[in-house]
Amino acid sequence: MIQIKNIKKTYTSNNIRVDALKNINLDIEKGDFYGIIGLSGAGKSTLIRLLNRLEEPTSGEILVEQKDILGFNNSELQEYRKKTGMIFQHFNLMNSRSVGGNIAFALEVANYPKEKIKPRIIELLKLVELEDKIDSYPAQLSGGQKQRVAIARALANHPKVLLSDEATSALDPKTTKNILNLLKDIQKKLNLTIILITHQMEVIRDSCNKVAVLDGGNVAEVGEVVNIFSNP
Ligand code: ADP
Ligand code: ADP
Repeated sequence: MIQIKNIKKTYTSNNIRVDALKNINLDIEKGDFYGIIGLSGAGKSTLIRLLNRLEEPTSGEILVEQKDILGFNNSELQEYRKKTGMIFQHFNLMNSRSVGGNIAFALEVANYPKEKIKPRIIELLKLVELEDKIDSYPAQLSGGQKQRVAIARALANHPKVLLSDEATSALDPKTTKNILNLLKDIQKKLNLTIILITHQMEVIRDSCNKVAVLDGGNVAEVGEVVNIFSNP
């Protein structure tokens, strides 16, 4: 599904070079719940920004369903971003819009057919078990509920891949488990590929089937979670 080949990313600012990613090779298969773990500064965010084409690598290749995403023109890139959902640590909801309005926004910018927007919002809120909050505002929701809205929004345009950037890091342990279980259920229902970056080992253990351990811009270890982490 996704092949990351010989990816290097060097940032240069004020004549200081930082090799954020030195040589990354990963193979993510359809249906994987793929964890990427590492300490702060290991290169996790850089990798996820490359996957979403928010940044370009210094060298290397990223193939998604056999297509080189680095060669995309603007319209291909727009289409690709629509098909790649993303959730974040701080949810990134618009406070001025209701739950329904936040999801509607994602559909509107993707030119979703107008008459299908409301039914799609309801379908998505059912998926994340939050139908009764359609007219609530983010300020009225708990952290877990906000993340559910963000998940619904990320899935609005039927993506095949969901990228999760420390999406449970601002949540308490119980809510974290609930969100991870929800993601696992949704993954099965929708046949999604999920890539999750985190600094929390227990998040990987609870949710992922595969894991790559990043360290100083390199892959230190990669494989099945059961083989990488011994049981407690
Ligand atoms: P992580 O997400 O694992 O904490 P990052 O990908 O954010 O790691 O960072 C990897 C390295 O790249 C760090 O040394 C960081 O300081 C550096 N870095 C990240 N983004 C930039 C940037 N825009 N400009 C310069 N250096 C950066
Ligand atoms: P907001 O307070 O976010 O501006 P609106 O007043 O526009 O929300 O929306 C009122 C109701 O319609 C809510 O139930 C909301 O979920 C839903 N909704 C919001 N935007 C759209 C849209 N573009 N199409 C269909 N339903 C929408």
